[in-house]
Amino acid sequence: MSGQMDLSALYEISYGLYVVSSTHDGRVNGQIANTVFQVTSEPPRIAVSINKKNLTHEYIRKSGVFGVSVLDQSTPLSFVGLFGFKSGRDADKFPGVSCEKGVTGCVLVTQNSTSILEARVVTSMDAGTHTVFLGDVVSAKRIRPGTPMTYAYYHAVKRGTAPPEAPTFRGAAVEGGAAPKAPAGGAKYVCSVCGYVYDSAVGDPASGAAPGTAFEDLPDDWTCPICGVGKDRFSRA
Ligand code: FE
Repeated sequence: MSGQMDLSALYEISYGLYVVSSTHDGRVNGQIANTVFQVTSEPPRIAVSINKKNLTHEYIRKSGVFGVSVLDQSTPLSFVGLFGFKSGRDADKFPGVSCEKGVTGCVLVTQNSTSILEARVVTSMDAGTHTVFLGDVVSAKRIRPGTPMTYAYYHAVKRGTAPPEAPTFRGAAVEGGAAPKAPAGGAKYVCSVCGYVYDSAVGDPASGAAPGTAFEDLPDDWTCPICGVGKDRFSRA
């Protein structure tokens, strides 16, 4: 019997990146999840693992329905941040985001999505910090051709991070060898909220900061492209 516990072995399990949404009392919410998987094909059933603290958890629990949007590899970090690092209790995430209403009443995010699915919960399992919801797929639709984002791509190429509520959170976001990786060379500043690393060699082209822009030279109203906090929440990495 081996007693080895090298938890980095868990990093080698593959995942995708999804928006899981639900609805309750006319309100809608959605969040980023990486733990969505097909469980059976006859009937088509999928499962999601959702943190009990999240508003989406409350809505799925109460409504018994959830939606899944499969995000494309081209999805901007800011979009992942909107659904992954902001709580629906503090902000409505949906204004300005392309969506459609499904047969379950869930609002499904179609922006940046390759496919959308809806499911009705048939059973759930208490997994400690999370609940695993198992659902029958009641609608499924392709939105556009694309390449679904994998969790590995999100970490390695998009330099994305995971919030503490994620089932696969790796402690401090800069540890663990997978996230985030910035090219060597520039001065780096790390976001204290989400772990995003600003690298001056890379800049933040999405916000207009060209490669080579020093952190100090970013505009005062520049915000973290993942979680949206201001420059004051960054410190030198
Ligand atoms: Fe951040």
